[in-house]
Amino acid sequence: MTLSIAFDNSYARLPDRFFARQAPVPVAAPQLLAVNAGLADELGLDPQALASREGLEVLAGNRVAEGSEPLAQAYAGHQFGGWVPRLGDGRAVLLGEVIDRQGRRRDLQLKGAGRTPFSRGGDGRAWLGPVLREYVVSEAMHALGLPTTRALAAVGTGEMVQRETALPGAVLTRVAASHIRVGTFQYLVARNDIEGLSALTEHVIARHYPQAEGPMGLLQAVVAAQAQLIAGWMSVGFIHGVMNTDNMSVAGETIDYGPCAFMDGYDPGKVFSSIDLQGRYAYANQPQIAVWNLAQLASSLLPLMGGESAIPAATEEIERFADLYSAAWAQRFAAKLGFSGPPKPGDCGLAQRLLDQMARAGADFTNTFRALAEGRPTGLEDGKDYAAWQADWQARLADEPDPQAVMRAANPAVIPRNHQVERMIEAAVAGDMAPFERLTAALEQPFADSAPAWLREAPGPDEEVTRTFCGT
Ligand code: AMP
Ligand code: MG
Repeated sequence: MTLSIAFDNSYARLPDRFFARQAPVPVAAPQLLAVNAGLADELGLDPQALASREGLEVLAGNRVAEGSEPLAQAYAGHQFGGWVPRLGDGRAVLLGEVIDRQGRRRDLQLKGAGRTPFSRGGDGRAWLGPVLREYVVSEAMHALGLPTTRALAAVGTGEMVQRETALPGAVLTRVAASHIRVGTFQYLVARNDIEGLSALTEHVIARHYPQAEGPMGLLQAVVAAQAQLIAGWMSVGFIHGVMNTDNMSVAGETIDYGPCAFMDGYDPGKVFSSIDLQGRYAYANQPQIAVWNLAQLASSLLPLMGGESAIPAATEEIERFADLYSAAWAQRFAAKLGFSGPPKPGDCGLAQRLLDQMARAGADFTNTFRALAEGRPTGLEDGKDYAAWQADWQARLADEPDPQAVMRAANPAVIPRNHQVERMIEAAVAGDMAPFERLTAALEQPFADSAPAWLREAPGPDEEVTRTFCGT
């Protein structure tokens, strides 16, 4: 069976100072762990060919497919607010781009593909845990209807990688609208490469926002996309965990799943990442961090906007985030309460009153909203404000034709629960992929009533995962 991928590599045609040509570094003994047949089909790839010996070699980085022009992308970024002038793909290689069945350009990238000129002290590898975690969580995000990079395949390398202990290595095949980040723009402007900046801007406009006019139009489009994305995250209790500017996609997809997590008990100040000591990337901070990152994008684009004289106009574009985000949040949370159509005055207040009670009770975010959708008790009934809230909510629902349907479509029954993700990883390390299969299957239809009970259950006190690790 031969694997044929119709590559068309537009990024590789950009000036070569944007990247380093770099083939993936072969691994000892590739072993197929997962292939995403649905996504393969979407991309016009044959899942059986991907799973063949030749396909496996391509997915492991042991063979460069015909038409692939492997490269490591250059980027810079602010990590936890601190400037790092050179990051780049230290453990990832872009194989190239394909045009999918719907005519959309998609990147194919191997993550964990070995050292590149951007690896600094790192080994360029990934271990099985983060690879399967990204696979499960990014696919769940997609099934939840939120923009995200996707996972096409996971392969074991047959090699161990040294972290705190020796762990089995793996490679993820990631699919994205592009892997261009805010930090990609920062990289060029930090080198005073205005010509490069201009080429990148044109590339991104043509690729992601063809209707945008010039750098200001691009900024406007990215602001709008991020406002939608972050409101979407908030609506499902997602915490990215490392919203550094190098982990913010200009295409508006969720990217770089590290110590991310969906929260169990609702707490607006929730932080999972073991490295986020100040809580910079806590749940409730995500909108303002997005604004901070977008300001970095704006300042990178300034040289193309006419310099300092453009600051007031660029600032205005960034300030629009607040209204766009609020509107998107209102829309999402109104639907979570069963309100169809544009939110009415008072809807946000109703949502906030419920969230306040949930925070006080530490109520499970997912299950509380799903209970409303399924007409079951939320567990908040004994709280002092609940009866009044419920009366007001019921009154507002009176004009709604089918609130249950609206709520069922907005309140997932299942999310990738941290404790289940951790269990899945433990099993996979021990060679048992059954929990991975079960988890990915259960998360394919998160809004279905048929979602399994074991994944609906909130963790018990001794099961709850409170810390997640970058675990590269
Ligand atoms: P991340 O925390 O995934 O956003 O990565 C931040 C930077 O560290 C990026 O430039 C990565 O390419 C790099 N990096 C992370 N892990 C490794 C690794 N194992 N080897 C080389 N570079 C890495
Ligand atoms: Mg990153």
